[in-house]
Amino acid sequence: MARVFNFSAGPAILPEEVLRQAREELLNWRGSGLCVAEMSHRDQEFVSIAEQAEADLRALLAIPDSYRVLFLQGGASSQFAMVPMNLLRGGDQADYLNTGSWSKKAIAEAKRFCAVEIAASTEDARFTRAPTQRELNLSSEAAYVHYTPNETIEGVEFPFVPETVDIPLAADMSSTLLSRPIEVSRYGVIYAGAQKNLGLAGLTLVIVREDLIGRPLAGTPAMFDYKTHADAGSMYNTPPTYAWYLAGLVFQWLRCRGGLAAMATINERKAGALYAAIDTSGFYANPVEPACRSRMNVPFTLADPGLDQKFLTEAKAADLVTLEGHRSVGGMRASIYNAMPEEGVRALIAFMQEFERRYG
Ligand code: PMP
Repeated sequence: MARVFNFSAGPAILPEEVLRQAREELLNWRGSGLCVAEMSHRDQEFVSIAEQAEADLRALLAIPDSYRVLFLQGGASSQFAMVPMNLLRGGDQADYLNTGSWSKKAIAEAKRFCAVEIAASTEDARFTRAPTQRELNLSSEAAYVHYTPNETIEGVEFPFVPETVDIPLAADMSSTLLSRPIEVSRYGVIYAGAQKNLGLAGLTLVIVREDLIGRPLAGTPAMFDYKTHADAGSMYNTPPTYAWYLAGLVFQWLRCRGGLAAMATINERKAGALYAAIDTSGFYANPVEPACRSRMNVPFTLADPGLDQKFLTEAKAADLVTLEGHRSVGGMRASIYNAMPEEGVRALIAFMQEFERRYG
């Protein structure tokens, strides 16, 4: 059976070359006689896989030595709690930018631990844009500032990194990490679930500035303390070994393709073509301000929502799958992560144009 183009927001499409390599190594990783999933995380073989993955990630993102990289479990949703537990450091207030469904969840969780100040909200604009730097009402009392650079559901991406002066910036990069170069030193902590651009569900990546580690909220469980994992090389308990290995394959795939600058160029081309197709049609629409449109998640609606089901059924017949929008917003959403080839985006655009010609 031929593979299809999968536009899922996550778990998402994986690079075919990575899947082939994983299949090649599945029964016998490089002469070890073992599947990576069968190895003890303390085995020298797995330790070498783990170290190589971290080295490749550090190279891709140019991560400064003063940052620790943690390979955790619990999803980005656990980070909604771990960020306040670790970053409050004696403070009792944090600033949050309210820009969509995922920042709302982060805010709700943080409220269990501290006073949450909403430094900016675009809810009035129905989350169709990011706030500007001038709109940010940041407080000098905040222990940290949290934001969501790319809102996966609404398809809104910040076109800039918020300037917070000396206050650590925490970023939920679940749906944007590795889509383009970033300046890690602008952030106190970056976290991401792996099931979009990094590999498999089950792995959560945290990149945290070393000086922010080690002063957790009283009562923080060991598993929720960044220090526990930093001190143990992310092997305090059994890490998600296979997902760690697979992320390593994805990192190598990215390096072979020219790294994140090369990915950014391709991603801009893919998103640019898809938004242009939407904007030039009289049939499809995207409500997000052009400067704030996500390069990874492209939501769009049909002029007649009565045609949604037909669109999805016919798209699936054309090998274009998982295009339904998030249940909370409806419509369509095409997630076009690194692993989505340009050919997939071209196929989607051609299908959309043909669908419009027949039903528009
Ligand atoms: N934040 C963002 C921006 C997301 O897109 C997601 C998942 N779609 C989450 C958080 C939640 O991630 P997880 O399911 O790994 O907890």
